[in-house]
Amino acid sequence: MPVLQSTQTPLLGLSLDQLKQWAQDQGQPAYRAQQLHQWIYQRGAKSLDEITVFPKPWRSQLTAVPVGRSELYYQSQAPDETVKYLLKLQDGQIIEAVGIPTETRLTVCVSSQVGCPMACDFCATGKGGFVRNLATHEIVDQVLTVQEEFDRRVSNIVFMGMGEPLLNLENTVAAIQCLNRDIGIGQRSITVSTVGIAGRIRQLAEYQLQVTLAVSLHASNQALREQLIPSAHSYPIEKLLEECRDYVQMTGRRLSFEYILLAGLNDQSQHIAELAIHLRGFQSHVNLIPYNPISEVDYQRPSPRQVQAFVQGLKQQNIAVSVRYSRGLEADAACGQLRASQTVNFDQNQPGLKP
Ligand code: SAH
Repeated sequence: MPVLQSTQTPLLGLSLDQLKQWAQDQGQPAYRAQQLHQWIYQRGAKSLDEITVFPKPWRSQLTAVPVGRSELYYQSQAPDETVKYLLKLQDGQIIEAVGIPTETRLTVCVSSQVGCPMACDFCATGKGGFVRNLATHEIVDQVLTVQEEFDRRVSNIVFMGMGEPLLNLENTVAAIQCLNRDIGIGQRSITVSTVGIAGRIRQLAEYQLQVTLAVSLHASNQALREQLIPSAHSYPIEKLLEECRDYVQMTGRRLSFEYILLAGLNDQSQHIAELAIHLRGFQSHVNLIPYNPISEVDYQRPSPRQVQAFVQGLKQQNIAVSVRYSRGLEADAACGQLRASQTVNFDQNQPGLKP
């Protein structure tokens, strides 16, 4: 019998075929892989020792083999039923995932990195710096945890948590493939959000996934974008948009542009006119995100009237547009507020808050 070492890579993230290979390497029949697959992905086994259909002697040998689940460390629920989860990784790092329920959907906002190196000025994650990329199993785990905690199937996934997914492209793609193949979440129900990394949008297109790409544009001209997003200095808006056009051509899928609305800064009629020039005829959709406040900067969220004026202005220019008011604001779980802290700014005694 082969020696099993605790330094082994976790099983979470492996396909049925890869699990078959693994079982074979352990001198076990292929049907053990089917059992493993079911226990890891459907029954939520957190250690192989829980898999009671395995013979006891083998099970006791498997204790050193990690499934790859993270520890649910803390959770807080906002009044709108959005729940923010803090997950502790094997090395003690903390990340956040958010579960966003509606009557018909359960969306998970997943993190792709511990922290983020992009340092966008309006984003809490960017203020905390970058630690490391997440491994594939650490991304998949977030979805399983939310599914288990809500006791409901996850229908949609957005890579809009901590981190820049295209800087962790390989693990992000492997996680998408696993979520699709092993957990049964349709690729079309998965959105990858990026601030744009030179060359990486084309690289993503080459995988020919059916996911939706959301590009964080946030500005209608280069100077403004540079002011908000440090990486824009070395990746001009024209180059970004050119790469976005290539993405649409290569994948046949439209994409969406995210645009944070910052009062008085990027929400004026001049910006509508500039956006219209960039986006006319582009197979795309603009998603406006009224700014969610973070403590380090003093940007303002525009009033609902100002937001509506911006929407109407874009519509008049024949640009498809919608507004995303983020959920979970009261639990610091809304877009841009994730910083892996336990601070909650509402009544700590509220039901659903589990320290
Ligand atoms: N790095 C990726 C994904 C993470 S952020 C990206 O930049 O797209 C997900 C979305 O939340 C992005 O559009 C991001 O710009 C937006 N966001 C960040 N901070 C925000 C804030 N304070 N208010 C509203 N949206 C914010």
